[in-house]
Amino acid sequence: MAHRWWLRLRWREISVEMRRELEDQSKGDVMAIEIKDMVKTYQLGNSEVQALRGVSLEIEKNEYIAIMGPSGSGKSTIMNLLGCLDIPTSGTYLLEGKNVSNLNDDSLAEIRNQKIGFVFQTFNLLPRADVFRNVELPMVYGGIPVSKRKQMAEEAIRRVGLGDRMNHKPSELSGGQRQRVAIARALVNNPSIILADEPTGNLDSATGEEIMAIFDQLHEAGNTIILVTHESDIAEHAHRVVKLKDGLVESDTRTRRIEWEPEAMVN
Ligand code: ADP
Ligand code: MG
Repeated sequence: MAHRWWLRLRWREISVEMRRELEDQSKGDVMAIEIKDMVKTYQLGNSEVQALRGVSLEIEKNEYIAIMGPSGSGKSTIMNLLGCLDIPTSGTYLLEGKNVSNLNDDSLAEIRNQKIGFVFQTFNLLPRADVFRNVELPMVYGGIPVSKRKQMAEEAIRRVGLGDRMNHKPSELSGGQRQRVAIARALVNNPSIILADEPTGNLDSATGEEIMAIFDQLHEAGNTIILVTHESDIAEHAHRVVKLKDGLVESDTRTRRIEWEPEAMVN
């Protein structure tokens, strides 16, 4: 008798587990990113800096999000974690349903190469390499054959409007053009998620708007876009604004009304 009870309990446990797994899988179909209780502590000599103190966020595929907040609030830290450039001190990170919280450096690099395109404020281009080479580089690490690399790099470079600058060095380009190269490099592996940490921070506002037009297009093409910005007119391009303060989410607001909402249909 006792034995049957045990079996029944055991079965219930297993089916709960299976259901959860199925739910996780189907969530992975719509969710780009799920982070839960993410904590990041940096060790600085003898003292600890708590850059993130327990951040949870769910980001669906094809969302367009601006992360804002004062300097030191943890924006770059969260971007580095989302971009698999670093791992959290504690907490979980599911990237398209896959747990990437505890991967080693090699596995992280592989995921990053497949799924993530990163754009930095300071462009981070190789100064001695020309536009083509800078954009081709992620594919060199990705082990893609030369002819395919050439085709994909050229396509990404054309997509950001620099088809006539393939053989220019970064020093021969304007700031806006350099950031376009960085975007082409981020795009070249067809990542589903594009992360940009203050991509317009070093650009004048007109050039910044040109760069934002590219992000808008990428969003329309189906990418998930997450960008950090200080500027409210840049954040207006996004559909959701997450504000960080002292390593915590202070607010999380949808800023664009979805077109099919009843209010939008009045008139
Ligand atoms: P933000 O991008 O919002 O300006 P950061 O994420 O760069 O903020 O930093 C959050 C906090 O973590 C700050 O107090 C910063 O000084 C600290 N921090 C960031 N990176 C490191 C690091 N590598 N080592 C030690 N402390 C760091
Ligand atoms: Mg920062």
